[in-house]
Amino acid sequence: MIGNKFNLVDAVKLRGQAEQQLQNQATPADPVTARTMETRQLVHELQIYQVELELQNQTLLETSVELEQSLERYADLYDFAPTGYFLLTANGTIREVNLAGADLLGKERSCLMDRQFSLFISTETRSVFNAFLDTVLAGASKIRCEVTLTLGAAPPLHLYLEGVGKDTAAGRQCRLAATNVTERKRAEDRIQHLAYYDALTQLPNRVLLTDRLQQAIAQTGRDQKRLAVCYLDLDGFKAINDTWGHAYGDRVLVEVGHRLKSCVRTNDTVARLGGDEFVLLLGNLAGIEECEQAMDRVISALHLPFTVFDQPIRLSSSLGVTLYPDDDSDPDTLLRHTDQAMYTAKQAGGNRYCWFDADYDRRARHHRETLQRIQTGLTAGELRLYYQPKVDMRHGTIIGVEALIRWQHPSEGLLLPAQFMPAVETSNLAIVVGRWVMKEALRQMSVWIALGLHLPVSINISSRHLQQPDFVAQLRTALAVYPDAPPDGLELEILETVALDELAAISTLIEDCRQLGVRFALDDFGTGYSSLTYLKNLAVQVLKIDQSFVRDMLVDIEARAIVEGVIGLSVAFHRQVIAEGVETDADGSLLIQLGCDHAQGYGIAHPMPPAQIPAWIAGWTAPQVWTDQ
Ligand code: C2E
Ligand code: CA
Ligand code: CA
Repeated sequence: MIGNKFNLVDAVKLRGQAEQQLQNQATPADPVTARTMETRQLVHELQIYQVELELQNQTLLETSVELEQSLERYADLYDFAPTGYFLLTANGTIREVNLAGADLLGKERSCLMDRQFSLFISTETRSVFNAFLDTVLAGASKIRCEVTLTLGAAPPLHLYLEGVGKDTAAGRQCRLAATNVTERKRAEDRIQHLAYYDALTQLPNRVLLTDRLQQAIAQTGRDQKRLAVCYLDLDGFKAINDTWGHAYGDRVLVEVGHRLKSCVRTNDTVARLGGDEFVLLLGNLAGIEECEQAMDRVISALHLPFTVFDQPIRLSSSLGVTLYPDDDSDPDTLLRHTDQAMYTAKQAGGNRYCWFDADYDRRARHHRETLQRIQTGLTAGELRLYYQPKVDMRHGTIIGVEALIRWQHPSEGLLLPAQFMPAVETSNLAIVVGRWVMKEALRQMSVWIALGLHLPVSINISSRHLQQPDFVAQLRTALAVYPDAPPDGLELEILETVALDELAAISTLIEDCRQLGVRFALDDFGTGYSSLTYLKNLAVQVLKIDQSFVRDMLVDIEARAIVEGVIGLSVAFHRQVIAEGVETDADGSLLIQLGCDHAQGYGIAHPMPPAQIPAWIAGWTAPQVWTDQ
């Protein structure tokens, strides 16, 4: 009826005319006329209905044309979309698909109709897809999943599934949007690579290494095998960089990476921490031998000549190794252990590997903790000086005291120097403790002076403290703080061995201290290897005979000969001599006989707290066997 001449305007006009005619006619009196008019009216109304019907038809037609056109436009848009759209039936077959969807599956649209969508999905991901499809068809709402296709390189697809239609299983359908995420995956991989791999060598970086180490530890715990962690550092790599430039150095590092990888199995890890430092994780080892073989392989591989930019060079490397779970530590500690062992290998000249020594580490850790504790003790005022009297045996007089350090430990009681000083003396804490001893002894001296007791005090100086460049300045400052304490009342006991090392420097230092008025004694004399020249050059006033000779001199001819020798030297060089370790009257008598009147020892008095000194002095008398001589 599209060809019909009626249109809306005509129809409206026609109806208007008919209504007008009806209104113009008055109702006639005779029945025939009235009947005729009624009929005419009916005809008119019929015409009007006809016109309206036509009008409705016309509108319907126009709407259907518009609908058709609009559908065409939507179909166009749907094919224009870059996302693949599918409508799947309740059986999972394809009912509708746009061009992009057909492209994704690599087929003509017509070939896809009524085919199972899941057949285009790789077998590895198909079951996941089928499960999701079933869920959606069963009424669940939207689901996202990722699958790969069966096509050539199995491109990955991101799928968005949504159930549509009636809730009955047969009536329900699934619409599905599919996007190829190959590019996104590539970008993700790239970001991943940048975050976990070293840009120069493409080896795992520290982050990935930590991850792998954690995994390897977990794995080793399960399968009873061992895991070797090796820290590798190239020997003299800095010189290569400095000589040939960084570009050259970089190429060497890349080559080192290749060689390391060739020495290990595919499941092992070779990581670069930065610079010329690498870490190897060798898992699944049956024992130490297997690990040692691998280390030998690495050392030899890196020792073969390199040719970079036509320039041949030779390299060597230092490795530190530890075995988990023998060394049952956390990842960070394992790495620290291997670093430590690597350092030992370096110290030993490089081009070798060293095992981490757990005992050594334990001792080192204990050492650090002890130092920490002593430092705290010092701050908390737990260190004490005890004093041991020194006497003139022949005259029965007190000539001074030696300050000896003690640690009044809150839980362990009074500790002797042997229990904590060895740790102190190998560290810089020796300087801190030494300064404290110096000040504390001077303070005590001035306290005694205030009591009318003029008592020379000797203090023990560790070699580390003595070798401080500002030692003399420290001493001067300490003396200035206690002006009551006379400098010549202070004696510094230094070990004979200290002076041996740096004779010139020490003799200058002794001179400088002497200028301040302070005296020096050579402690434990006879235990070192002092020469006569050496003794001649050191301006020390006192030689202190070591207690080991005093202890044995009554029974051992050699010990006695040494005691006699030291006394002889003191006479020859015009030095005073004192013996330590006098435990019996007989010891004292012999010393007096040999020409040594000064002594200290348990036979006279044990070291004691300063408060006890005045009373001890007041009460002491020398044995008569001594004073009678
Ligand atoms: P040292 O300087 O040879 O001190 C003498 C040590 O012999 C003292 O041990 C003393 O108590 C002990 N002794 C004294 N008379 C006798 C005796 O008749 N028989 C025996 N068997 N031993 C006797 P102490 O107090 O345990 O000190 C040991 C060492 O610790 C000292 O040996 C000294 O080298 C060092 N030391 C002590 N105090 C200090 C200090 O303040 N600073 C430094 N750097 N070292 C100190
Ligand atoms: Ca001493
Ligand atoms: Ca001694």
